[in-house]
Amino acid sequence: MTVITRFAPSPTGNLHIGSIRTALYSWLFARHYNGKFLLRIEDSDVERSTLESVQSILSGLKWLGLNWDKGPYFQSERLDRYKNVIRLMLNEGKAYKCYCSFEKIKKEREFQISKNKKPRYSGTCRNLKNEIRFNQDYVVRFKNPLSGKVIFSDQIRGRISFDNSELDDLIIQRSNGMPTYNFCVVVDDLDMNVTHVIRGEDHINNTPRQINILKSLEANIPIYAHVSMILDETGKKISKRKDSMNIIEYRENGFLPEALLNYILRLGWSYGDKEIFDLVEMKKLFNLKFISKSPSIINEKKLLWLNRHYINNLPFHYVSECLKFYFKKRNIDIKNGPNVECIIELFKNRCYTFQQIVDSSHYFYKDFSYFDKIAAHKYLVCHNFLVLKELYKKIFFLYLWETKGLSKVIDKISIKFKMKKKEISMILRVSVTGNVHSPGISTVMYLIGREKTLIRINKAINYIKNVNF
Ligand code: GLU
Ligand code: ZN
Repeated sequence: MTVITRFAPSPTGNLHIGSIRTALYSWLFARHYNGKFLLRIEDSDVERSTLESVQSILSGLKWLGLNWDKGPYFQSERLDRYKNVIRLMLNEGKAYKCYCSFEKIKKEREFQISKNKKPRYSGTCRNLKNEIRFNQDYVVRFKNPLSGKVIFSDQIRGRISFDNSELDDLIIQRSNGMPTYNFCVVVDDLDMNVTHVIRGEDHINNTPRQINILKSLEANIPIYAHVSMILDETGKKISKRKDSMNIIEYRENGFLPEALLNYILRLGWSYGDKEIFDLVEMKKLFNLKFISKSPSIINEKKLLWLNRHYINNLPFHYVSECLKFYFKKRNIDIKNGPNVECIIELFKNRCYTFQQIVDSSHYFYKDFSYFDKIAAHKYLVCHNFLVLKELYKKIFFLYLWETKGLSKVIDKISIKFKMKKKEISMILRVSVTGNVHSPGISTVMYLIGREKTLIRINKAINYIKNVNF
C-alpha cells in the first residue's frame, strides 16, 4: 500500500504555525514511507476564501520546501463531482431531501434546549419516500445509522468511540445546491485515495460523521491522527489569535526555513531529548507514535536559538546567499563594502536572525546619516576632539592597511592620552559606525576600508566642532 497523505487548508486566513505543523507532519509521514503528499485547497466556502490566502499557502509551503506530489486541487473546481455523488446517494436511499423550513428547525432546537436535550434534527423527512415537492426548497441530508457506534483508532489519542445516536443526519447539500464542508472532505479523501489523515484535533468531531459517509460509499476508511493544539505563552490557542503570524513573516523577519521546520517539528513531536534535526533525519525518524497528546506551547526563544544554530552550521555559501537576499530587500548594495561572508563570520555569534545581522552591519555598506544621540553625547565631546584628530592622523599615515596596525594605533593613542584602550575604541566605534555596538573596531575599520574610515572620523571631528565650538 502506498501511503497517501494530504494537507487540506481552507484559504480563509493566515497560514500560521499550527497549519504548517499539520502540513509538515503529513509531508514527513509520506516521505518516511516513500508515499505521496498532496495539496488540496478547501475553498468550497466561496465567501470566506480569498485568493490572497491561497497565494500565501503556496508561497509558505514553497519557502519551507514542503513540496507536494499532487495538486493543488481546488474544491471549487470539483463541485460537479460532489453533486454527482449526492445524486447517486439520493437514488440509493443513502441520503434524502429535507424540506423542513428554517423556522421549523429553529423551533425544534429551542424546544430541545428547553428540555435540556442536545439539539439535533428530529428526522421528520427521513422517510418521505421520494416524494416530489415542486417549488419547495430543500437541503440534502445524509442518512446516518440510527444505532451502533463509530469507533476508530486515533494514532495519537488511541481508541475513540461515538454513539451513532449522538450524531444527527448531517446536511450534505445546502438549499442553494452547494455541498457542505464535511461532505467535500469525504469525497476528496475517497477520490484521492488518502490513506492517512493527519489534522488538528478541532476536527475530531467531524471524523465519525465522515467515517459514516465513507462507509455508506463503501470506501476504505483512512487512518486518522488528530494533533493537539498549539497555545501561546498565555494559554490562548494560536489559531484563534487575530495576530497569529503568517508563516511568510518569519521569512521577512530573517528566519531560515531549516530552523523553522526544526522548531515546528519539535512543537508536539519528540525523539528522546534530541533537539536538532536536519531534513534527512526528520524524514528518517518521524513517526506518529511520538506525537504528544498534550497541547504545545510556542517558544520564541527556542526558535531564535535554532536559527542561530543553523546560521552557524549550514553551508557557508547557502547562508551567505540568504543574507544577500535580506540586504537586497533593505536596498543595501553589498558592492559598496566587504564580502557578505566576512559579515557572517563577524555576526553569526552576535545575532539570531538575518534581520538582526542587517540591522547590525548596514554601516559597512552605507553611510549613516546621524550618530546615535546618546552615544554622540557621551563620546563625541570636546575633550575627545584632539584624540580623534590624532587618530585621524595616525590612521591616515598607516603604511599597511591591516587589523593589527589599526590595533596598534589604538594602543599608542591610549598611552599618549592616558586613556583606556576601551575608551579609545568606543570613540572610534561611534565615529565609524554611528553607534556603540559593533564587533572589534579594528576589524570593522579594516573591512570598511581606509578611505571611508577617514571620511567618517572626519565627520565625527566636524560634529564635535559644530556642537561644541
Ligand atoms: N480545511 C480544514 C482546515 O483548514 C482541514 C480539513 C481536514 O484536514 O480534514 O482546518
Ligand atoms: Zn426535514
